[in-house]
Amino acid sequence: MAGLADLVGGAIVTTRRRWDRVFLQYFLALGAGFMLAAAFLRMVPESLERISHAYLFVLIGYFFVHVAEHTLTPHFHFGEEIHPEEMLVKPAVGYMALLGLGLHTLFDGVTIASGFLISRPLGFILFVAVLLHKLPEGFTMASVMLAAGRSRRAALLASGILALATVAGVLLMSLLSGYVGQALALSAGVTIYVAASDLIPEVNKEKGWGVALAVFGGVLLYYVAESIMEVVGIAH
Ligand SMILES: [Zn+2]
Ligand SMILES: [Zn+2]
Repeated sequence: MAGLADLVGGAIVTTRRRWDRVFLQYFLALGAGFMLAAAFLRMVPESLERISHAYLFVLIGYFFVHVAEHTLTPHFHFGEEIHPEEMLVKPAVGYMALLGLGLHTLFDGVTIASGFLISRPLGFILFVAVLLHKLPEGFTMASVMLAAGRSRRAALLASGILALATVAGVLLMSLLSGYVGQALALSAGVTIYVAASDLIPEVNKEKGWGVALAVFGGVLLYYVAESIMEVVGIAH
């Protein structure tokens, strides 16, 4: 399902001539709030209980995304790609962005799977955290490919590759289930980077209060999700 959301995000760019940019910005903001709450209130505490040096893995996870998306990749940011001049200078930038975002989406799968390996409630929370940023993620990928002069088909295909990378992350984790503590701590670092260093800067580009407040809507949504699980008795 998370992988499919990548494809839907890509389809928004490739099939519609005019998309509702503000709608996507709200999604992005909700995702950022939810992911930060899940990382600080669930992922880091759960990994501290499981392994020593959990914070070291959090730090490695954080910088892993920094290397993949912003060091290997010459030009990358979330949201619509509106700098075609960057693409002219370096024609490979579309594929570099695909590689960078692909490494990040592999961890989206690892995140969901390590959650479910520990407990169903954690798996559910991490699934929602990943799902909420998948639409803008697929959208970003397809829009980079179009800006780099690739066809609509290639743009949709790139979003599809992100979908497959997500599933590959889940499969990888099922092979490495003995390292679930380390995987969760790495995933926490990845989640913090994606939320605080990829999504929040896009939120801050928006004028007005709405999108900025939607970040707190994401935190609230996290609280609601935890409360629902408490009420139906599947928390912990
Ligand atoms: Zn750009
Ligand atoms: Zn992602």
